[in-house]
Amino acid sequence: MQRLIKDLSELNNKVIAIVGVGKSGSALAKLLSLFGAKLILNDKKPKEEIEEHIKSISQSVYKIYCGDHPPEAFEEAQIVVVSPGIPLSTPSIVSAIYKGIPVIGEIEMSWEILKIIKPEIKIIGITGSNGKSTTSTLVYEFLKKDDKRVALAGNIGFPFAEVVYEIYNNGAQIDYLVLELSSFQLEGIKNFKVHSASILNITADHMDRYSGIKEYIEAKSKIFQNQDGDDYLVLNMDDKNTLSAIEGLRNVYLKRGKLPHIFYFSRKQKVYGAFLDENFVKFNPREEIQQEIIKEMENTVLPIDSFKIKGVHNIENIMAASLLAFSVGCKGETIKKVVKEFPGLPHRMEFIRNLNGVVYINDSKGTNVDAVAKSLESFSNNVILIAGGRDKDGDFTELRDLVKSKVKALILIGEASQKIANALGDLVSHYFEKDLKSAVFRAKELAKEGDIVLLSPGCASFDMFKNFEHRGEVFREIVNSL
Ligand code: ADP
Repeated sequence: MQRLIKDLSELNNKVIAIVGVGKSGSALAKLLSLFGAKLILNDKKPKEEIEEHIKSISQSVYKIYCGDHPPEAFEEAQIVVVSPGIPLSTPSIVSAIYKGIPVIGEIEMSWEILKIIKPEIKIIGITGSNGKSTTSTLVYEFLKKDDKRVALAGNIGFPFAEVVYEIYNNGAQIDYLVLELSSFQLEGIKNFKVHSASILNITADHMDRYSGIKEYIEAKSKIFQNQDGDDYLVLNMDDKNTLSAIEGLRNVYLKRGKLPHIFYFSRKQKVYGAFLDENFVKFNPREEIQQEIIKEMENTVLPIDSFKIKGVHNIENIMAASLLAFSVGCKGETIKKVVKEFPGLPHRMEFIRNLNGVVYINDSKGTNVDAVAKSLESFSNNVILIAGGRDKDGDFTELRDLVKSKVKALILIGEASQKIANALGDLVSHYFEKDLKSAVFRAKELAKEGDIVLLSPGCASFDMFKNFEHRGEVFREIVNSL
């Protein structure tokens, strides 16, 4: 694929349509205005809301279309940049593609500019259905602690365009960029290339946007489509959907004649990459990679008991993050230190406190049945589980085996209480509580030394809270006041 621009001067007076003027769209508008682009802005939102976002760059705005995505919005455009929330199958966008106008996403446009102003920056890209934020943050923490100049952006924190703006306009000094990438963001790439990439896992998600799992896997696979022999790819050996993404590697090979160095991570078998040996994460490098990386990997053993973040899924996240960090020269000693200290992100298996030998854990982001299953897998048979909220059509019977073996008592709140009781209530004693506060008090009353009180609702929060963060914060406050 031919480069979109070879020189920044080509952006001067270029008519660029930005579809979706939210966080990443407005950051991109700001970046493009630095180079004299003529911007057409298009959003379903009312004009006043769009103008609010772009106050500082009004001189670069050529036209604004709001309320819909009409075909005339793209008539004059030489490039169309579509935000992740807007499907590329939108009819007027499809027409633009047919007319031969390059249609890309914010990630691609930002990368084209970064490639000109600072091509030496090494990008580490992370995608997957679950664990992206945790793994991206871990890689960022590893590299920061290793004294590397690193930034974290993409689907977490700042948009990519904002980082490029900071580098170009404010002289930000960065050598490594960790990007969390959703499948929607990956749909809009063409030349975008990452030095180190990972697909953590692929489970059925966003099926309202994709025609099926195959199309979803294809979107995720775009993360490695432009990699070559100097690059690294980290994949989950235990996840069959991720492995089927490897079929896409054939195209990489056909295009370039070389494949990236592939590392796997597995909790079940010894692989090239990272694997579990009893209670230790060990690393098994391939022979063809750089000697220094081989040495670091061979000399590093991570005892899983030393990890501050708990849960089997976090062992996977740590394995993937370590491999990505090794691939850009991070030291094993640094990784070892960080995993002992990294507390995890709020609301994801977050340790709140130990009160008289009872540990309280906030997994408010566990908003579906699969997430509750992953959380339960991490414990033995002493969990008092607080669950419930707004049902997302979850099949709670999938938890029967885990509840039988791990849960001492079920405390149910919110709209889904009765449904959960119908699915699991015959297995353990269960209690209906009117709100989270009385649920926590009930848990305290039931808990004995050595027990875990786990909030992992398996449901959305909107029946009782603003969002999952709010639910987690309320839980934290109640637990800390006990
Ligand atoms: P994302 O950014 O992909 O939404 P997060 O790191 O924010 O992922 O984690 C969200 C939730 O997903 C966590 O609370 C946990 O229940 C679950 N989770 C995290 N990592 C994994 C993983 N590697 N595999 C499966 N589930 C995971």
